[in-house]
Amino acid sequence: MFVWMNSKSYFPTRFYNEKLTNFSLSKFNKELTKECFKIRDYDKVGRTWSKKNYVGGYTSYASMPQLQQFSSTFLDLEKKITTHVKRFTTELEFDLKGKSIGMTDCWLNMMPAHTAHGLHLHPNSFISGTYYVSTPKASAAIKFEDPRLDRFMCAPPRKANCKKENKPFVSIPVEQGMLVLFESWLRHEVPASTNEDERISVSFNYSWW
Ligand code: FE
Repeated sequence: MFVWMNSKSYFPTRFYNEKLTNFSLSKFNKELTKECFKIRDYDKVGRTWSKKNYVGGYTSYASMPQLQQFSSTFLDLEKKITTHVKRFTTELEFDLKGKSIGMTDCWLNMMPAHTAHGLHLHPNSFISGTYYVSTPKASAAIKFEDPRLDRFMCAPPRKANCKKENKPFVSIPVEQGMLVLFESWLRHEVPASTNEDERISVSFNYSWW
C-alpha cells in the first residue's frame, strides 16, 4: 500500500505484551492456579458479589483486591510484573520525578464459558494490566477500544480490511504466561466465549508516588 511520506502519527496508544519466560513458567502457573482455586473457596464474600456482578464467574475484585499482600505466590508475581511495568514506563517516557512506582491492587478473575466482562477502565492508577494464568482452548481475547471513539462525530467508519492501527477495536489473543500492560485510562473488555475450562487471569493496577 502506498503511504504518503508527509503523514505522521502522534499521540500513540502503547501496549506492552510479553510472555514471561525467564523462570519456570509451568511450575509457577501450576502453583498460581492452585492458589486461585484456594482463594475462591475461601472468599465467600467475593463469590456472593460475583453472582450479581460477574455472572457465571468469580472475581476477587470487590472482596480481596490486594492479593499481593495476602499470598506469597501473588507477591512473587508482583515482583515479576514490576520489572516489566518499569520497562513500559521507560518506553512511555514518563518523568516520575524520582518517585517510585508500586502495585496498589491485584485481583483474580475466573471466567467459565459465557461469562463476559463489559467495557471498563481502571481508575486511581496509571498503568494496569493482566497476567494470564490459564487460557483453555477458545478463551476470549482482551479487547481494547480506540480512546478517541467518542470524538469521531462525523467521521466515516473504517474500511473492514483497514490496518490494525486504524481499527476502532483491537483484540489481543491471550495465552498462558502472557502479560499485557496498558495505560489505565484505556477502555477494554473481555467478551463471552466458549472456552471448555475456566479462563484464569490476574489483573492489577500501579500507581506512582
Ligand atoms: Fe480490566
